[in-house]
Amino acid sequence: MQRTLVLLKPDCVRRRLMGRVIARLEDKDLNIVAMKLMRVTPELAKRHYVEHVQKAWYPELEAFITGAPIVAMVVSGPEAIQVLRSMAGATNGLKANPGTIRGDFSASQQMNLVHASDSPESAQREIAIFFGEEEICE
Ligand code: ADP
Ligand code: MG
Repeated sequence: MQRTLVLLKPDCVRRRLMGRVIARLEDKDLNIVAMKLMRVTPELAKRHYVEHVQKAWYPELEAFITGAPIVAMVVSGPEAIQVLRSMAGATNGLKANPGTIRGDFSASQQMNLVHASDSPESAQREIAIFFGEEEICE
């Protein structure tokens, strides 16, 4: 079993797509082992997106991710990291394959509904930013 961090980003919450995205995770027989609705602060955004902080587009990303509530989740299952990346689809919703969350619901490079950790190292680092071990119900 592997754990990964999934965020339903502000566009997902605003567009009232939370239920449809969560239903896909449940349909895939993944386990949601932690979940909370919360607001991302600029400090939290910089920790989570540390590899992007120096990029020219980072200020826009920070404004987006802090602009409305998100839902943070820890999802577990066999090969959950790769499974969630496949289910999310390519970063840019215009390029993401139909059948993926981004491919089906996003037409934007930035407003792409979900975050999913990209490696075991990222998953471990990111889960620890959003959750204490005592909040995870395995
Ligand atoms: P992913 O979320 O697929 O791992 P990245 O790590 O490359 O993608 O980027 C993190 C997030 O930053 C993306 O999901 C998207 O919301 C946003 N983003 C990526 N590229 C751009 C860009 N060129 N301009 C604005 N926002 C971007
Ligand atoms: Mg990434």
